[in-house]
Amino acid sequence: MARAVAERLGVALRLPNLTPRRQASDVPGRKRCDWPWRGAYISYDGRAMPCCMVATPDRIHFGNMAEEGVAAIWNNAAYAAFRKALSSDMPPQVCSSCAVYSGTF
Ligand code: SF4
Repeated sequence: MARAVAERLGVALRLPNLTPRRQASDVPGRKRCDWPWRGAYISYDGRAMPCCMVATPDRIHFGNMAEEGVAAIWNNAAYAAFRKALSSDMPPQVCSSCAVYSGTF
């Protein structure tokens, strides 16, 4: 029902998979999730998180885009380290328990 309504209205709709496709252990992190390369999730006060799955910046954030600027935070060492870790066999802790990372979302 929701899919049909969204399609009729021209609205992009993303829903959880009804049949989860678990990722094989050898699938690299960026193939599992490329959100930190495509966009940021910003808290009400400007702190940048890698995605909405983090939900709140007390879990992890890379700095304040409202205070320091978008480009400065997007290109800083903390963001780069997070992307590097997500690309490796040792993902950030917040990713290792994430449904996107495991392929169940
Ligand atoms: S927490 Fe999940 S959605 Fe967010 S960057 Fe990590 S794997 Fe991607």
